[in-house]
Amino acid sequence: MLNLKLLGTAAGGGCPQWNCACRLCSISRTNPQVIPPRLHLQAIFGVHGAKQFLINASPDIRFQIESEPALWPNPAEGSRNTPIAGILLTSADLDQVLGLLELREFQPLTVYATSAVRQTLEANSFFRMLERVPNQLTWIDIVPGQPFLAGGAVMCTPIGLPGSLPFYARHTQGEVHKIEDGHALIGLLIEAGGSRIAYTPSLPEVTAEMLALYESCDAILVDGTFWSDAELSRTHEGTPSARSIGHVPIGGPDGTIAALASLKRPQKIFIHINNTNPILDPESEERRQVLDAGWQVAEDGWRWKS
Ligand SMILES: [Zn+2]
Repeated sequence: MLNLKLLGTAAGGGCPQWNCACRLCSISRTNPQVIPPRLHLQAIFGVHGAKQFLINASPDIRFQIESEPALWPNPAEGSRNTPIAGILLTSADLDQVLGLLELREFQPLTVYATSAVRQTLEANSFFRMLERVPNQLTWIDIVPGQPFLAGGAVMCTPIGLPGSLPFYARHTQGEVHKIEDGHALIGLLIEAGGSRIAYTPSLPEVTAEMLALYESCDAILVDGTFWSDAELSRTHEGTPSARSIGHVPIGGPDGTIAALASLKRPQKIFIHINNTNPILDPESEERRQVLDAGWQVAEDGWRWKS
């Protein structure tokens, strides 16, 4: 049986975001029962009762581990141990990798990433903190389209997506480092116990291939960062549009709801929701449209039920 759980569902900044006084963040601070606060997106998966895998490591990872007994060390196994069998990275974005630095207490870690993502982190001196003792960090290279077994029980297939390395990597490496398309950003297809789930928290475009892949799934966890293309720049002048930073917005004639309207098989769930996104407000017209279109809005603690 596949265990897949979300210990956080927010995009960068979380909700509320520390410097944001927008209506949604303000309500989330003062009336959390109306707009529940959200931690940064963090998924875990594995077979029930066995060691678990993290998908990325969010800036909130320490709180997320403490909130989830399946991730606690076991006193019967000595003073230092972890049931975390490995960490799968979908990009080198800070929101996906900062939590690795929180896990630097000399614990052996196995991290699965494309060679482009691995090289980006290896080029950053902070990550040497994960290599202070022998065998502390084990990298396993993964390749888009090539399935691998996680923990011997869950089949994972990286889905290559168009996208470039994050801003910090572009600066440290001079000119935009030439990365083969699909290697800087991936989604994951996760299969076990008869369940097939697509995990795509960043979706730069909906291609015919993605549509076919989604239709083959029991559930799809999809980029719900923004409702509209201009949402971020409206809240914070000078910031980029949704599409220009690799997120198809949810609404509008060419948004995700419209582009994925033909899907019949999968449960459709939005994840990675930015604190500017009006679907956070249960009373909003946008939330109504999402629900009317047959989508769910994942909350922290969401769990796959087959
Ligand atoms: Zn806000």
